[in-house]
Amino acid sequence: MNKWWLEGRIRGCRQGRGDGGGSIRGTGAQQRLPSNSNMSDDTNIPTVDQPVTSFRQLAGDSRGMRPVLRNAALTALSMMWQRTGRIEQSLRINRVHVLNLHHVFANEEESFRRLLRRLRPAHAFISYSEAVQRILSGDINRPALTFTFDDGLKSCVRAVRILREFSAKACFFVCPPIIGETDPDRITQFCHEGMREPVHEFMNWDDIDKLLDEGHEVGSHTLTHPNMSTLSSTQLTDELHGAAEQLKKRVGRVEHFAWPFGRFEEFSPEAARAVFDCGYQSCASGVRGCHRARQAVKRHELCIRREHMIAEWSLVHTMYFIARSARLHLSPEEYWPSGWNDVIRGDRG
Ligand SMILES: [Zn+2]
Repeated sequence: MNKWWLEGRIRGCRQGRGDGGGSIRGTGAQQRLPSNSNMSDDTNIPTVDQPVTSFRQLAGDSRGMRPVLRNAALTALSMMWQRTGRIEQSLRINRVHVLNLHHVFANEEESFRRLLRRLRPAHAFISYSEAVQRILSGDINRPALTFTFDDGLKSCVRAVRILREFSAKACFFVCPPIIGETDPDRITQFCHEGMREPVHEFMNWDDIDKLLDEGHEVGSHTLTHPNMSTLSSTQLTDELHGAAEQLKKRVGRVEHFAWPFGRFEEFSPEAARAVFDCGYQSCASGVRGCHRARQAVKRHELCIRREHMIAEWSLVHTMYFIARSARLHLSPEEYWPSGWNDVIRGDRG
């Protein structure tokens, strides 16, 4: 079965959010903005006066037979994996698995809680820093999970409350200039031009302080949420150093980085090298997968794989994606695309 068809088209900031794994959704054509010459052809941004409050507003138009067929195929496959015990077998594999979300909207609260309840018995919930250390050292002797949330959206406050119920820890990757921003024009510009999404509500610095107090971590997601593959070396440095400096001033330290949009197509070996030159300890993608016990690797050799998911997706679909990734056995040579390691390594030897 075609992997990309199953996972849904890649659109906007999030991977596969068009029809990524849940029920069929649709937004009316009247919600769309006229096409914008600065945006890619397949980018359709719904116009909303108020910040987004549900995944439905982000999902785009998923009417027609294709998503119906895709949904049915995914359900059949997921049920087969469940019935034959492959899901449970996969969850028992010793690994570090990073689950990546962006939001937990009010209508996603119960499904996110249900997911954590489902995962808890089979996994140790560890912090992001512990996850990175275990992957780097190869010391992976049990099934372990950690969580990340990209973009610093306000609904992460709700996620923190639910994570607390399960003593789970997360790393929140944020673009510091948008945290606490109150100017509607700047927020709109950031969302439309940076994230290529409708207007969101973002956390403020009080929210960030509270999640830090609870033992969560904050990482860098650049300053302006650009497609990093298009940036000059000066722009790369500005984005990476600028975000690190602003975060250090506000939260004391920043060790981890996740690039916007998450695909290798929106990154480059030069950008990855700039991340490590800037002093970040880790660099996270949005590419599916997990990390199994291996020999120790150097920090610039590691590209963290993250399991993209939407809390609202059907639980059986999400469990299928997690189980499928759990069975992947990546070697360190496969962390970065072919040929990238030489550029990233530079003169590090
Ligand atoms: Zn992002």
